[in-house]
Amino acid sequence: MKFNTKMIHSGQRPEVQFGAIIPPIYQTSTFVQQSPGVFKGYDYTRANNPNFVNLEEALASLDNAKEAVVFSSGLAAITALFMIFSPSIRILAEKDLYGGTKRLFNKILSRYGYHIEYYDLANTINLEKFINKRRFNIIFLETPTNPLLRVIDIKKISALARRYGLVLIVDNTFASPYLQRPLAFGAEAVVYSTTKYIGGHSDIIGGAIVTNNIKLTEQLKFLRKAMGFNPSPFDCWLISRGLKTLSLRMARHCENAKKVAEFLSGYKKISQVYYPGLSYHKNHEVAKKQMKDFGGMVSFELMSNQKSLKRFLNSLEIFALAESLGGVESLVNHPASMTHASMSKKELSLNGISPQLIRLSVGIEDVTDIINDLKNAFAQIT
Ligand code: PLP
Repeated sequence: MKFNTKMIHSGQRPEVQFGAIIPPIYQTSTFVQQSPGVFKGYDYTRANNPNFVNLEEALASLDNAKEAVVFSSGLAAITALFMIFSPSIRILAEKDLYGGTKRLFNKILSRYGYHIEYYDLANTINLEKFINKRRFNIIFLETPTNPLLRVIDIKKISALARRYGLVLIVDNTFASPYLQRPLAFGAEAVVYSTTKYIGGHSDIIGGAIVTNNIKLTEQLKFLRKAMGFNPSPFDCWLISRGLKTLSLRMARHCENAKKVAEFLSGYKKISQVYYPGLSYHKNHEVAKKQMKDFGGMVSFELMSNQKSLKRFLNSLEIFALAESLGGVESLVNHPASMTHASMSKKELSLNGISPQLIRLSVGIEDVTDIINDLKNAFAQIT
């Protein structure tokens, strides 16, 4: 089956009792047993639930993978994944990551002994030497990255990972399986915050790991049950529903974001626009090779003081000032004070996240309205 057909039908078999076209929501904590230990595949929702399995089937099929495991959030998925490995592991992580992932690495995992080092993985010139010297076990990256939209060559990194016996994990949240499928480029596991493009409607929090490694999924399912990282059946049902329009939404997100990036590139008060679809973006060639299109996220540096920047953000009407991304509605975020606020001023500066950086999640509204909204807000600061 092709992607668009799988998106509608995988994990979505009609219900048998009454023939409902849509599988019901199994909003239940427990399942009746015929006699002790004899039950129909499910015993307790912390361990498993038909709505988890339906969504897992769909997610696995969209990445052409054998298996998927769903979690209560993207961060729960990442946490579970690292708990599979012993705390003595050495992690090489991309320098530009979602602030919450960095908080998990720096403030939680490192306390338990995990060793984490950061590197600009979009710049591979000296990477092999670095890996060879430092004896890492895992490489963890996002691409495109949050919030600077760097694009990392997954194939190149996975070849390096294989050469040195490292496990490559890719957070594919910004791209979604519509734009790129990291397992095909050699990643061992793919992470999603399904909260974002996969759910697509800003109405749930969820996460998933997708992989061909069946032993890994068994361990992840055990961890989900043992540590209580399970999602709710209703949230999985909503994600399954949102997923059915992923292609349509992503195509519009990409189309609108490209127009927004082009508009911003010509605006005088902006010193830098980060969008992988712009021909002058540093990683445009890698993006062209690895992604079907360039995504719905655009970041830029506004040349202004903080007072004007705030006025700009407060003047937007279609863009809601909110964390998160990937929903149908346009959102604007100030990484330094919102999604990446857990990083110190020094860390922000070392990572290139300036106080002038603004990140847009371009929605699927009419692009004329989106651009007019930006124009009106810019007019308030000139
Ligand atoms: N990965 C990326 C790239 C993200 O942007 C986020 C959240 O913004 C997460 C993971 C964490 O996902 P969640 O908020 O569902 O825990």
